[in-house]
Amino acid sequence: MEHPVELFDKWLVNKQVKDQAKPYHGKWRAFMLGKCYRAQYWVRQHKAPSDAIPIEVMRIFEIGHVLHRAMQAPLVPEQCEQEFEFDDFVFHPDYFDDECVYDFKSIKVGFKTKKFATGFSKMKVEGFDIAKEYRYNVLQVMAEAYFMKKVKGELIYVCKDNGQTNIDIGRHFVFNTFDWEAEVLKEFAILRAWWGSEKLPPALPRIYNGAECKYCMYRSKCKEVEFNGGNNGV
Ligand code: SF4
Repeated sequence: MEHPVELFDKWLVNKQVKDQAKPYHGKWRAFMLGKCYRAQYWVRQHKAPSDAIPIEVMRIFEIGHVLHRAMQAPLVPEQCEQEFEFDDFVFHPDYFDDECVYDFKSIKVGFKTKKFATGFSKMKVEGFDIAKEYRYNVLQVMAEAYFMKKVKGELIYVCKDNGQTNIDIGRHFVFNTFDWEAEVLKEFAILRAWWGSEKLPPALPRIYNGAECKYCMYRSKCKEVEFNGGNNGV
């Protein structure tokens, strides 16, 4: 008899395998926007990951999925997770209504000391700027808003540790599509230029203060490419 935790871990691995087998039509993916161009390129190519996601990380992802499902439970199902395709872009917004696209995020409570704060605690600090701290999150929801012709996009963060949301602490992360249109188009112009050139973009982590590679599913492959002289084979 297998232990329930072993069964859970196996279920997570199988789910991951199934997710990675979905081709997603060879298009740019919303969840990758703002991240390393090379990683985005390989995801669009549907390149097989060179590095397995550790089981501990899969469990963390699943906690996020559980929170997503709970947030979506009272919403109109036809307005949650629908697939949208526009030219070379495919995405599944968490929720949308007549004028707004919403993206739900789960976040750890983090640390809060006199001089240093992380995670959800950082959002409480005076002067916190979401567009600086989580620019890629904003870019992702605003790309969805732009392509769906909605006038605004909103990010909603739920703290995994205590269930607080950014709304509860008086922070509303709502953005006008007009203000983000240029940023969205710039990201797509760069991605399309790399795709058109058929050259691999440089190894350039863009999020987590340079620690993006640590969580990248292509880190071994990327190292190998760099070892062999950089952006040659795609
Ligand atoms: S390992 Fe780093 S540089 Fe290489 S593709 Fe991944 S995120 Fe980009």
